[in-house]
Amino acid sequence: MNHNDSIGCTVNECKHHCKDDNFCTLNKIEVVKHDCAEKTLECTDCGSFKIL
Ligand code: SF4
Repeated sequence: MNHNDSIGCTVNECKHHCKDDNFCTLNKIEVVKHDCAEKTLECTDCGSFKIL
């Protein structure tokens, strides 16, 4: 499966995930923040996620 070498990802529940070697298949993703103040890793997320 073709993937983007610049976007590593382990979210195998996502439609865009490359299961062969844990990368994303999109050319670009949108990283988003949640409502909380951006002080922890958990406050950021992939906004391009699509459920399988
Ligand atoms: S869209 Fe986001 S969550 Fe889905 S495979 Fe790409 S980086 Fe991972």
